[in-house]
Amino acid sequence: MSSNCIFCKIIRGEIPGRKVYEDEDLVVIHDIHPAAPVHLLMVPREHFDNLDTAEDRHLRLLGKMQLLAPRLAREQGATNGYRVVTNNGPDGGQEVYHLHVHVLGGPRPWKRL
Ligand code: 5GP
Ligand code: ZN
Repeated sequence: MSSNCIFCKIIRGEIPGRKVYEDEDLVVIHDIHPAAPVHLLMVPREHFDNLDTAEDRHLRLLGKMQLLAPRLAREQGATNGYRVVTNNGPDGGQEVYHLHVHVLGGPRPWKRL
């Protein structure tokens, strides 16, 4: 938990987020500025910055998000393929320093993230 983190605030219900899925480990919301017709953010409940600070104990969580992506992409209408992306650090284009996985899909064209 990090008091100033926008994703922690969404997880705590302090600011709104359009949730499509949640369980004991993570919350999935629609991105507020979608870069594709389907643009989901898979956000762990635990705050850690990015893959640089991920630990061995996050192995199950990281795998779970990869395996959840196809199901949520399909449910949200990305039936013809999708991308699963994590941005890390300044040159990785990371804006929010709470690890998250983008799921992008839907009919092209859409800008690559
Ligand atoms: P990053 O560049 O860190 O990988 O991606 C951060 C993503 O979070 C961006 O795609 C941005 O549009 C999204 N985002 C930033 N603030 C909010 C917010 O308050 N709510 C939601 N749903 N998405 C947000
Ligand atoms: Zn956070």
